[in-house]
Amino acid sequence: MAFRAREIVLPAVGRDLQVAESEVPEPEGDQVVIRQSVSGICFRDILTRDGFMPRVRTPGVIGHEISGTVVAAGPCAEYVKEGDRVASLIYRPCGRCEFCLTGRENLCPNKEVYGETLRGGYSDLAIVSEKSLVKVPGHIGEDEAAIAACVTGMVYHALKVVGNVQDGSRVLITGAGGGVGIHAVQVAKRLGATVIAETTSQSKVEAIHRAGADHVVVTTGRFDGEVKKLTDGGVDVALEAVGIATFESSLRSLRTGGTVVVVGNVQPEPVGLPLGLIILKGNRVEGSISSTRKDMMDVFELSRGGRIRAVVDRHIEPGEINRAYEDIRARKNTGRVLIKF
Ligand SMILES: [Zn+2]
Ligand SMILES: [Zn+2]
Repeated sequence: MAFRAREIVLPAVGRDLQVAESEVPEPEGDQVVIRQSVSGICFRDILTRDGFMPRVRTPGVIGHEISGTVVAAGPCAEYVKEGDRVASLIYRPCGRCEFCLTGRENLCPNKEVYGETLRGGYSDLAIVSEKSLVKVPGHIGEDEAAIAACVTGMVYHALKVVGNVQDGSRVLITGAGGGVGIHAVQVAKRLGATVIAETTSQSKVEAIHRAGADHVVVTTGRFDGEVKKLTDGGVDVALEAVGIATFESSLRSLRTGGTVVVVGNVQPEPVGLPLGLIILKGNRVEGSISSTRKDMMDVFELSRGGRIRAVVDRHIEPGEINRAYEDIRARKNTGRVLIKF
């Protein structure tokens, strides 16, 4: 028995997305078919549409933020069964390399990303490998499950696993009103940090404070002077979710020994690195990519009592996708935009 899916297809790089229908076959091997009611729109999807992800297969279903209820499991699936609530990594790990075998599957060199080389998440029915899945506990809502891999799990990995943020850490979050930033504020607070949030939009300040930020810096220019003043000399960790527009200020906002953790690069251009400063202050610049299954499970635990919530700008219909892309590119959204199927 095949399933009828409603989906959003990228016909070719650079083109508008289109709503379509297709047949999803019975799952094979360790494949699992998941019925989704929501799926997130990521800046990476916009970069994919624009041609920055050379491996993307078109025409194809893009998107990679997958969660929902299992409706069919392949003959080799052993971890999940029909009816289970699950959330998926944004990629399929190989399960055999040194990184996969040591719980660092986000670095797996053999991983295949949903919505690029594998069928993606912009559909009411997603097909994923069981190797990508974690079960979703009952206290986690639908929207929270939808953002577990690519937003909350991703920022948890960057802040906790890479940045070693802990009780008393001083943390700077750039682009704090966006889909990534506003959840990073919540996760950093939950880890016990004092949070300085940077945004370019006055209109997002209230929402950023509501997410838990201790200080919000509104600027379209440099902000390192103000961050240093607010933190008595600088932050331990700067989460850089923007790129060239904020990177240098983030680096200059660090205290001695501090680290910039780079997770976002919405304007994909190289940045200048002041080497003398890095040497003198013993600073580090670290990249952090995506999340692991453990990160998602840790975020589910940290979320108990509703302490990490999805901040959703709005739920859109599939047919509104191209308009939503323009709004996200113009940074009009506060929090995540989710597609409702
Ligand atoms: Zn994403
Ligand atoms: Zn691997």
